Amino acid sequence: MTRVRIAPSPTGIPHIGNTRTALFNYLFARNHNGKFILRIEDTDRVRFVKEAESAIYEILKWLGLEWDEVHIQSKRLSIYKDHAHLLEKKGYLYKDKDAFRFKMPKDGNTEWIDLIGSKKIVFQNNTQEDFVVIKSDGYPTYNFANVVDDHLMRITHVIRGDEFISSTPKHIQLYKAFGWEPPMFAHLPVILGNDKAKLSKRHGAKSVLDYREEGYLKEALLNYMALLGWSPGEDREIMTLDEMIKLFDFKDVNTASPIFDVKKLEWMNGVYIREFQISNLKSQIYEFYNRKYSLEIIEKTVPLIQDRIKKLSDYLPLCEFFFKDPEKYEIDLKSKSDLLKKIYDALSKIDSGKWRALEIGDKMQNLAKDLEIKNSEFFMFLRVAITGKKISPPLNESMEALGKDNVLQRLKKVF
Ligand code: GLU
Repeated sequence: MTRVRIAPSPTGIPHIGNTRTALFNYLFARNHNGKFILRIEDTDRVRFVKEAESAIYEILKWLGLEWDEVHIQSKRLSIYKDHAHLLEKKGYLYKDKDAFRFKMPKDGNTEWIDLIGSKKIVFQNNTQEDFVVIKSDGYPTYNFANVVDDHLMRITHVIRGDEFISSTPKHIQLYKAFGWEPPMFAHLPVILGNDKAKLSKRHGAKSVLDYREEGYLKEALLNYMALLGWSPGEDREIMTLDEMIKLFDFKDVNTASPIFDVKKLEWMNGVYIREFQISNLKSQIYEFYNRKYSLEIIEKTVPLIQDRIKKLSDYLPLCEFFFKDPEKYEIDLKSKSDLLKKIYDALSKIDSGKWRALEIGDKMQNLAKDLEIKNSEFFMFLRVAITGKKISPPLNESMEALGKDNVLQRLKKVF
């Protein structure tokens, strides 16, 4: 059975690169009906960050990348100690100050065929140093615990960022020393910023949680991250998670580094927002604003602005007036009392049962005509009276959504 894992170290909040690694592991596991394992590699106690650990869970949960097993290395210390003794007995370890080091062979090469690009990667053993396996604090190093666990957890494919290529010869030699079969390795090319430099904070190498806060949809983030290094062919771009699972294959993962382009992510987010039946836009807006605003009103108003917003955070600035009366008016309406009073009278004649955008629109156009006021002017004053702003979602539809009583009460306030 295919078994893959992600092995984040909770030393910092996972960035897009780490999360893309998680996604590729997940896609590969599900494509093979295999298992996706989460292993928290928290053996570096000095650099341990509690919030980083919770962020790992939070990100995976939010994105819907459900894991099948979770293991925590700091709870497995005796396993690493036992395995270190095994190697010590076999003569592979020696004590250096308070730490145990592994003797790397000094002749020959260590090599493997990487699944990305099916290329052979070769390291000369004489370039490799003996490395620490158990530190003076009794905790194992990443290199050691990682190999012991990948073996004991029966990991078949190690899929990780290519910054770990230089550690792989050490890992392979550990497998050899134990007499174990190494897994297959797939090292994903590092993600670059627009300026071709390694993605850093400066480029927005932010966490998925930052993007969530800015109003990006998880569907768009998943889709965009999947394309960071993977091209499923036929210029396919917009894909659901299920489609990605079906299509995912290492042979379509590029060897060249992908470029992170926030503009493209933004574009993709807009696509998902417009196709909101896929992304369940209403409930995402509801959740985004911490369930503070009525779901019923969100449902009524989303169709009015869906084409205009690119992020969830664009919703409220456009729609706040649906939830509360305007506090300020972008145009002074004092001199327009007569007009607004006439509008009030006309609208109050519409039967509540007929309070529809079309009916409202007809009534208003007729009134504007009777009063010989230009439509643009007429509707601008009405718009400001109802929404407070000169620019708003379509006005007749907005008035329908607000309801007759609410509209009349707003008009009354301004004449
Ligand atoms: N703990 C390593 C990390 O922080 C895991 C690397 C690996 O997947 O082997 O990413």
